[in-house]
Amino acid sequence: MDMRPFSPPGRAKPHVFAMNQRDVEPFAYFTERNFENITQVHELPQELRFDMKVVSSVLPFKVNSYVINQLIDWSDIPDDPIFQLTFPQRGMLSDEHFELMANLHRAGATRDQIKEAANRIRLELNPHPAGQKTLNVPHLDGEPLPGLQHKYRETVLFFPAAGQTCHSYCTFCFRWAQFVGMTDLRFAAKEATQLAEYIRRHPEVTNVLVTGGDPMVMKTHKLEQYIDPLLDASLEHVQTIRFGTKSVAYWPQRFVTDPDADDMLRLFEKIIASGRSVAIMAHFNHYKELDTVIAREAIRRIRDTGAVIRSQSPILSHINDNAGVWELMWREQVRLGIIPYYMFVERDTGAEQYFKIPLIRAYKIFREAFRHVNGLARTVRGPSMSATPGKVEVTGLGEVAGEKVLALRFLQGRNPEWVGKPFFAKYDDKASWLTHLRPAFGQEKFFFEQ
Ligand SMILES: *Cc1c(COP(=O)(O)O)cnc(C)c1O
Ligand code: SF4
Repeated sequence: MDMRPFSPPGRAKPHVFAMNQRDVEPFAYFTERNFENITQVHELPQELRFDMKVVSSVLPFKVNSYVINQLIDWSDIPDDPIFQLTFPQRGMLSDEHFELMANLHRAGATRDQIKEAANRIRLELNPHPAGQKTLNVPHLDGEPLPGLQHKYRETVLFFPAAGQTCHSYCTFCFRWAQFVGMTDLRFAAKEATQLAEYIRRHPEVTNVLVTGGDPMVMKTHKLEQYIDPLLDASLEHVQTIRFGTKSVAYWPQRFVTDPDADDMLRLFEKIIASGRSVAIMAHFNHYKELDTVIAREAIRRIRDTGAVIRSQSPILSHINDNAGVWELMWREQVRLGIIPYYMFVERDTGAEQYFKIPLIRAYKIFREAFRHVNGLARTVRGPSMSATPGKVEVTGLGEVAGEKVLALRFLQGRNPEWVGKPFFAKYDDKASWLTHLRPAFGQEKFFFEQ
């Protein structure tokens, strides 16, 4: 297998390579039903395979041929970060949940028995964090629009029904519930016209973020049906169309060799020709995802359309909880013309126990990496939590009036008045989410709780 090593900074490496046959990967994917095929080929130990079987009967699992053949280093299992990112890991379930499920498998339980136990466990894993299901669904003429989310004044999130899956699934995904068929929790929009009409009536909306799952799993012509109405002259207030996607990392072929790859690029150009900008909100969790020939070709082709690529990722234990990884990732992104945008904090859902990192540790890793890159990479915002009251960034650690504190601020707020306002929490090296923090200086509540 071809595992090109990452070249350390300082060793110049051309970033445009000639594509050749070995970069063209036929799309095939594996799930909990047939992953034995891959794990046998790669001779994983029996125990590890059993662990995967148990965990994948509760949490979603899907991984494609490109990730298997070009991103994972099979000589470094189980530590390889992309293996951790895509394959189920024992620690993703609590001992109690794991044993319950393992015993069912050992006893040869039926599929229905396993499914029933899985659903009970899933309900204990906070399947719908940050009140998304109830708090942010907008209405049109009194009718709820479940395919939209409008939490922050200027930005509407749109979840097209056909985009509610991904080319591979991330083990840490906070949207995991929709992938295991907890359908009452799924956002799905049926009508492009409703989206356009809602936005027509909301002149404060400056940008639409098309998200999922991954909207890039959709055929271009299908996606275009949603986008075209947004380009109407009556929607001039929409300045930017964003696409949230992991496809540049998981399936760069989407922009290079897929039958409608060129059509997608033409769609970006059409949006730009309408006087708007296109932002690809690309999820990258590790520099390894930037290091294949075809990923670089996809980035080059997207940028050729005039679209801007911004990058975001949560900071995750077992995957990227290391300042060197972030430093190299941001450097490579800047080299490739990608703008580092967000470092997120893993949400309080699903396999959170396995991936979470205390806020203070996340901040220290952030700052260490931030110090080592030049200003072009310092567009990135520090560890940020998408919490119920808003997006909250940890901006510093320090001592104020003799008390050790964490400094925070809202980057987005349920109430737009809150944005940018600094506030302080008691130093707490165990806290890993906003709700674990207490106000500093003897205050009873944070200002936004009053
Ligand atoms: C992050 C987020 C946005 C976009 O925020 P930006 O800071 O503009 O990138 C919009 N809506 C929701 C619900 C979000 O979580
Ligand atoms: S690509 Fe995004 S939505 Fe899809 S599994 Fe990964 S984190 Fe979740």
